[in-house]
Amino acid sequence: MSESSTHSSTGDAPENAPENAPENAPENAPERFQGGCHCGAVRYEITMPRPAKAFDCNCSICASTGWLLGFAPATQFRLLQGEEQLRDYQFNKRVIHHLFCGTCGIRSFARGLGHDGSPWVSINLRCLDDFDVSGLEIQRYDGASA
Ligand SMILES: [Zn+2]
Repeated sequence: MSESSTHSSTGDAPENAPENAPENAPENAPERFQGGCHCGAVRYEITMPRPAKAFDCNCSICASTGWLLGFAPATQFRLLQGEEQLRDYQFNKRVIHHLFCGTCGIRSFARGLGHDGSPWVSINLRCLDDFDVSGLEIQRYDGASA
């Protein structure tokens, strides 16, 4: 259960900073997570600070599929396998690729653009391996009006 021995080799923290320095809160230290769909065809890896909160989006697709969202720049995301398994679904303004596994149907992540036009991914935090979403602070996100 404990992640306390995790080494951070990819972070940009000053190399002399103690790992748990108070001003360097744990949430700032990137960790590597893996996740994917239900059947295992789609697998990815994402490096980001351990999420302390999740967005509960009220848009029609997130609401209907029960997503708890996290966001990260696409540069921190790597699809390990399953690109050919991914089906794309778009609606409304068609700016977000709501990808799902063609075998099991699970939407484990989506591709979109940030406000500055750079590629971002949204992650269904429920699809991360060994990640407990029950302790997350839930923040409402009004995607329906976005
Ligand atoms: Zn699948």
